Amino acid sequence: MKNIVLFGPPGAGKGTQAEVLKDKYDLVHISTGDVFRYNIKNATDLGKLAQSFMDKGDLVPDEVTIDMLKAEVDKNTDANGFIFDGFPRTESQAKALDTFLAEKNENINGMVALEVPENLLVERLLKRGETSGRADDQDESKIRNRFNEYQTKTAILQDYYAAQNKYFGVNGVGSIEEITGRLCQVFDKL
Ligand code: AMP
Repeated sequence: MKNIVLFGPPGAGKGTQAEVLKDKYDLVHISTGDVFRYNIKNATDLGKLAQSFMDKGDLVPDEVTIDMLKAEVDKNTDANGFIFDGFPRTESQAKALDTFLAEKNENINGMVALEVPENLLVERLLKRGETSGRADDQDESKIRNRFNEYQTKTAILQDYYAAQNKYFGVNGVGSIEEITGRLCQVFDKL
């Protein structure tokens, strides 16, 4: 299996690129943000719990997120591999993912990170907020809080995967096609 963590701050383009790459490499795309939003839309217990955190731009607690991620993986027993988008976002999520995959004799092949400067990210998110209907994209203070969560809890995962020689940074500035091309150069080797 090819299991890839597509990494980067909010607005880096992970979701857009994962949609293209999942078809090209025949992988299952799991976006934890999308799964949460689906649950909110359908007013499930999980959705009600997640909403209060998401609305503020805070991370949803690890235990809830990890259990949800495992259930999504287990729904796809025939998969050739996964693109994890928006997960892991904390060190304990990364460790839980490693343990969970090891139990299946699988592992993460690599973390592929989209690198984009913060001023461009804010611009992209506010623009997306005009059409996405996402409350967390429409308010600059919520966007700043999401960056703060990223800097304090998520960015360290670069070191976590680099220590295993699994970190691959990709320039995330350019056209969608240009960036897909750069990502493919890395995916082809993993
Ligand atoms: P995203 O769609 O990846 O930007 O995620 C939107 C929001 O969903 C985040 O701001 C968090 O509130 C929540 N979320 C998504 N993935 C995770 C995760 N792995 N851990 C905690 N919260 C998450």
